[in-house]
Amino acid sequence: MVKYVYDFSEGDKSMKDLLGGKGANLAEMTKLGLPVPPGFTITTEACRAYLKDSLVPESLATEVTAALRGVEDQMERTLGDPDNPLLVSVRSGAKFSMPGMMETVLNIGLNDQSVLGLAKISGNERFAWDSYRRLIQMFGKTVLDIDGDLFSDALDSLKAERGVTGDTELTAEDLKGLVVTFKKIVSEQKGMDFPQDPRAQMDMAIEAVFRSWNTERARIYRRRERIPHDLGTAVNICTMVFGNMGEGSGTGVCFTRDPSSGHSGVYGDYLENAQGEDVVAGIRNTLSLADLEDIDKASYDKLRGIMRKLETHYRDMCDIEFTIERGKLWMLQTRVGKRTAAAAFRIAIQLVEEKLITRDEALARVTGDQLTQLMFPQFDQKASKEFVARGMAASPGAAVGKIAFDNAQAEAFSAKGVKCVLVRRETNPDDLPGMVVAEGVLTARGGKTSHAAVVARGMGKTCVCGAEALEINAEARTVTIDGRVFTSDDTIAIDGQTGEIFSGDVPVTDSPVTTYLAEGLEAGLAAAGADEGTRELVKAVDFILTHADKVRRLRVRANADTPADSRRSIEFGAEGIGLCRTEHMFLGSRRPLVERAILSAPGSDERTAAFAELEKLQRQDFLEMLEVMDGKSMTVRLIDPPLHEFMPALSELEIKVAVAKATGEVDPADERMLMEVRRFHEQNPMLGLRGVRLGIYLPGLFALQMRALCEAAADLVAKGLDPKPEIMVPLVGSVRELQLIREEGEAIIAEVQEARGVNLSGVTIGAMIELPRAAMTAEDLAEEADFFSFGTNDLTQTVWGFSRDDVEGVFFPQYLEAGIFGVSPFESIDVHGVGTLVREGVTRARSTKPGIKLGVCGEHGGDPASIHFFHEVGVDYVSCSPFRVPVARLEAGRAAVLTEES
Ligand code: PEP
Ligand code: MG
Repeated sequence: MVKYVYDFSEGDKSMKDLLGGKGANLAEMTKLGLPVPPGFTITTEACRAYLKDSLVPESLATEVTAALRGVEDQMERTLGDPDNPLLVSVRSGAKFSMPGMMETVLNIGLNDQSVLGLAKISGNERFAWDSYRRLIQMFGKTVLDIDGDLFSDALDSLKAERGVTGDTELTAEDLKGLVVTFKKIVSEQKGMDFPQDPRAQMDMAIEAVFRSWNTERARIYRRRERIPHDLGTAVNICTMVFGNMGEGSGTGVCFTRDPSSGHSGVYGDYLENAQGEDVVAGIRNTLSLADLEDIDKASYDKLRGIMRKLETHYRDMCDIEFTIERGKLWMLQTRVGKRTAAAAFRIAIQLVEEKLITRDEALARVTGDQLTQLMFPQFDQKASKEFVARGMAASPGAAVGKIAFDNAQAEAFSAKGVKCVLVRRETNPDDLPGMVVAEGVLTARGGKTSHAAVVARGMGKTCVCGAEALEINAEARTVTIDGRVFTSDDTIAIDGQTGEIFSGDVPVTDSPVTTYLAEGLEAGLAAAGADEGTRELVKAVDFILTHADKVRRLRVRANADTPADSRRSIEFGAEGIGLCRTEHMFLGSRRPLVERAILSAPGSDERTAAFAELEKLQRQDFLEMLEVMDGKSMTVRLIDPPLHEFMPALSELEIKVAVAKATGEVDPADERMLMEVRRFHEQNPMLGLRGVRLGIYLPGLFALQMRALCEAAADLVAKGLDPKPEIMVPLVGSVRELQLIREEGEAIIAEVQEARGVNLSGVTIGAMIELPRAAMTAEDLAEEADFFSFGTNDLTQTVWGFSRDDVEGVFFPQYLEAGIFGVSPFESIDVHGVGTLVREGVTRARSTKPGIKLGVCGEHGGDPASIHFFHEVGVDYVSCSPFRVPVARLEAGRAAVLTEES
């Protein structure tokens, strides 16, 4: 039989899947011998069974009886006993914390009789009746689904009647009367009496917690936080202890060390004569934890001892909830404390310095996403800012500009070189042009998976979304915030890390972490200035990244195609270039040359001349980059565009010719061009004449690139440098394609070598694995390749069959919302589908050439989760955009230590 109930003494912290986070940690504390009120946890499995059948599993009831009796025996009280009642709390607790999303009921076990018993044993009649009214209120709202306002309105009118403002000023008699009123609300609303049977109260509360897993707000929260919907929640049933039993009682929360710097110290809040809910609700001002030492030294000392013990045990900063009931300290909850990105680095390093954790562990405790957050430009901390509203922090960074209400306005600002922020009620794919030119995006509606948020993150643009305080009138081009009207003459600033919106200009600065990454420790510390916290942060990032570099197996390269980007990559720690795309080298002012080459007859003088001209230009491109990359590998990908990008736009040309025809003045050259453009027009250019296909279709095109590269390398060798070019053939599907290009390439290398009298034997030729067929026949392709690089962008689009340029902004938001993917497969590798092909490709390639060098150069090369996958499948390097290089170094290091751990 499945076991659905675990006494706190039976579980431990490793059982979060089954017992939820709270239950697992309560069990762990019980195991450590800490003063946890006795109790038990109903598993997430029981919740899943309930949700499946809408029925509490029968065996659960019997297990609960046994567990409850155990608690009763320990406490020497029975649930709801009229003279000496045991009271319990019933709390939700999922694997991942979902604060405030699910239900809790306190004081279960109180009824018309046991309230008298509680008054007697506590010697406090007021407290007993207050506890009883709290139970009816909470139970009525969360278990019986009664509108909570009915109870709070009744409470308010009683206070008004008595002429008091605080709950605490109500007398025992007042509260007795309130219980009668509350019970009346229950019977009026539900046609039933408030249940007097303590066990019935408990069972109903358990079921309510199960149900609360699927409330609308819980579902929305999970979608936003990417928590799977099928986990279910555990239910913790715990003996009630009371911080509101008068003097000598109280409740508090604390951290085992400074949650921001990691320094040891006394951090926490304490509230005398109160229950946990009162602290969270901010009803009264709290004292600091240090004050507890004066109030109750014995409890304070005991708590400090427990804090130390917990931290030593969890080997991390913990946060703790505790209650003191008449001088007796109880631990209600602990967990490894949440922290900001900066705090994560600082705490990790502080713990290493105190020799509580190893450097490997410190590395495992921070993430690439946290490092990314620290790298975005930020608002100058010292600048004065005028706060106007807050939305959701959807995509990090800091953006400042004039308000643009639509594409036209954004584009007009941009054309004048004026920075702007696109402000919309919400965005849709039509807003893309505006988003592209704006510094950032601000919306009044929608959450972290709204169109604006998803697209902005994809573009690396700052975004704040769902700022409900904004009333936008797009027609009038005004936005009203708290009665104040802003127009496009106004400047606003949005902070993508905090969701804050400011009025007016706020200076933006580079993050000191980025300065450190680009220019080294000294520069980073100089940028941090006198701010000790920032200095500690920069040192922490340096320490952890240095360790990551030491332990990682994956090499990290950059995708760069200009000398400036190449330099930046090296500064950020790239060990080579994994992908130099050559398409842009053919666009712009060089496009007419390409047009001429494509449209002229094969073998004609015109084509030869165009190719010769292009070769000259390419040689200069490569020369500059190879010089920057001296001594480091540089993979040059032969041209891979959809062909139409090099031709005049079909529709424009059609209009031009049609208009000319109407006026009878057609230029025959235009007509010829239109014919050619129509001939090359593709319905689906992504699957058309591109990559190696173009190289074969237009003989001489790849050859000019390869010759330019070899000549550039020869020039540098002659100057005593050490260029390391690698020729990469894109979109290969068949070994014969690769063979043809390879033969051509080898001939060129030999020719240049001969003519220039230099050794170019180090120039290698490899292929991209971008098509399922390439992955599935990699053992054949390997015969003709010195290396492979997985182009996971194309591999994703060909495995899924969707074109990344067309789908991401259009239906992905709905796909994410509907849970079809947790994250876009273009952002993080689809391990199950695309990943299988990568794994297969690796195995097949190595079956032919065990030592073949394998890399990844799709966007996934810079994505943390994907990097762990690539580490695991055993590729040699990942290549990503320059800005992601530090993140990739960090994650490659983490992958190494985490794999070792498991
Ligand atoms: C790829 O397909 O993964 C790749 C790197 O090539 P591109 O993005 O240029 O198509
Ligand atoms: Mg590609």
